[in-house]
Amino acid sequence: MSTFLLSDEHEELRRALRRFAEDQVAPFAAEADERSEYPWKSFEAYRESGFIRLPYPLEHGGDGGDGIAYAMLVEEVARVCASSALFVFISRLACAPILAHGSPELAARIVPKVVSGEWQGSYCLSEPQAGSDVGSMATRALRDGDHYVLNGRKAWISNAGVSDFYTVFAVTDPDASRRTGVSAFVVERDAPGFSIGKLESKMGMRGSPTGELLFDDVVVPATNRIGEEGEGLGYAFGALNSSRPIVGAQAVGIAQGALDAAARYSKERRQFGSQIADFQGVQFMLADMATRVEAARLLVYRACAMVDAEAPGVTRASSMAKLFASDAAMSVTTDAVQVLGGAGYTRDFPLERMMRDAKATQIYEGTNQIQRIVVARHLLDEITEQRR
Ligand SMILES: Cc1cc2nc3c(=O)[nH]c(=O)nc-3n(C[C@H](O)[C@H](O)[C@H](O)COP(=O)(O)OP(=O)(O)OC[C@H]3O[C@@H](n4cnc5c(N)ncnc54)[C@H](O)[C@@H]3O)c2cc1C
Repeated sequence: MSTFLLSDEHEELRRALRRFAEDQVAPFAAEADERSEYPWKSFEAYRESGFIRLPYPLEHGGDGGDGIAYAMLVEEVARVCASSALFVFISRLACAPILAHGSPELAARIVPKVVSGEWQGSYCLSEPQAGSDVGSMATRALRDGDHYVLNGRKAWISNAGVSDFYTVFAVTDPDASRRTGVSAFVVERDAPGFSIGKLESKMGMRGSPTGELLFDDVVVPATNRIGEEGEGLGYAFGALNSSRPIVGAQAVGIAQGALDAAARYSKERRQFGSQIADFQGVQFMLADMATRVEAARLLVYRACAMVDAEAPGVTRASSMAKLFASDAAMSVTTDAVQVLGGAGYTRDFPLERMMRDAKATQIYEGTNQIQRIVVARHLLDEITEQRR
């Protein structure tokens, strides 16, 4: 991006992504939501398209796309099917700690399989009693010679049951603070003692399974530990730092899809002898929606560029992007339903689905209350620094 303009390559990529998403993902979106079924046809098309390689490094067979290109991928898929956008970024999030901190052998064993679409992954931090307060996690990993034994339960895990590997954070030293007492592991789906618990029946993102993982004396080789023992929580937060703008991109995509559908409808629907698009009350809603989408997109792309550059202030920028974009998605989808009137409230149009899907982006990868805490903490720390 040259200052605030996208490069020709990015614009061209967006056109290709839009064609792909509209032709090969959109047709299955309503069905996945209606039946709460994994959109396998969309996933297969994604794998065949080659776009699956975009967000992974070259050395593992990926295309090494930059953060903005990755955001565009998630955005364009989410514009037509938010659930499908989850299969794009959940596996990438599961790979993030492995790529950043795992041994070269572990990365070489896992990541190329994800890049080819043979494997999918999940990122497993939350527990029933450890949501926003992840430090209170209780899942335990006990070292026993050349392996660890895992016991406990994870909750709310995206892609549960579909994934072939799970990036799991567990307590290795209960006496230490969680900052130094948690480690990260790769657990493969066929590990004895590992099973999938209850799958949630959700308001939105219904094409993406979310569920519990149960660990009952699961033996994990020490070679599956990611990085150093005791560093897991830092790895978990590092992965979220670079992924939160991507949740923001998903939110921007949902909002853009809702805005496009509402604007189209406003030119077709007639009341009082005019298109409803002629009424200033409707025009103002559309203008506010479009402005929110654009502002959210800019925050997301900027945070992505900062992640790539490892720029100072990236944590704050990531939280701001996720926070603003997901709030924008909630408000834009709600207004889009309003623009359609009664029709917006029915399943004949995708708007009510988009509104339900948007809600999740305000909750996962840290609720928006938690994002506000992060932003405020960084802001206030800076003031304290300046006073010194
Ligand atoms: C669809 C979906 C998919 C998910 N996928 C994953 C996944 O793949 N992997 C994973 O690990 N997790 C996943 N999650 C879990 C998600 O990250 C948690 O739901 C989220 O972090 C909030 O935790 P909680 O649900 O326990 O809410 P709680 O932490 O119980 O929060 C309840 C309310 O209290 C507020 N609150 C809590 N603490 C504070 C505070 N200090 N100040 C102000 N307000 C506060 C929250 O903002 C919220 O409004 C997923 C969740 C959903 C809904």
